[in-house]
Amino acid sequence: MKRRLTLHFPREAVHQPITYRLAVDFDVAAKILRAQVAPNQSGTMVVELSGDIDELNAAEAWLERQGLGINREPGQIQIDPERCVDCGICSSVCPSGALVFEAPTWALRFEAQHCLVCEQCIPSCPFEAISLGMSLGMAPGLDRR
Ligand code: SF4
Ligand code: SF4
Repeated sequence: MKRRLTLHFPREAVHQPITYRLAVDFDVAAKILRAQVAPNQSGTMVVELSGDIDELNAAEAWLERQGLGINREPGQIQIDPERCVDCGICSSVCPSGALVFEAPTWALRFEAQHCLVCEQCIPSCPFEAISLGMSLGMAPGLDRR
């Protein structure tokens, strides 16, 4: 199974080889979706963990023992239709195809079921139309045609 987490690293933990330890000690694969971790500073990383449920639980417990904060609800991308001008820039940075532009309308369609919550689209929007929230934005599969 897969589990998406946001990990908050205290300054003391940023040098730890987290993904290596997860793989070797727990047989858990960690795919990094987004990372903001600077040397000698605290940081944040969005990861998708893959493994058996017991291994995932053990890995999470280990991460907490290392002093990392864990957010198990990374939130959901929201798109403000009042700000969005359908320029398409966000679609070009989305790694999962969750932001779709298609003929004939070329209007932005957000497919939440494909979203990794990597947040790469947020800074890409010149109109600040994209944000991270805890409630549903554009409903999955809904477009504004
Ligand atoms: S957060 Fe944005 S860029 Fe990342 S997968 Fe979701 S829609 Fe795409
Ligand atoms: S970058 Fe912003 S304005 Fe452009 S399509 Fe995406 S959400 Fe809309």
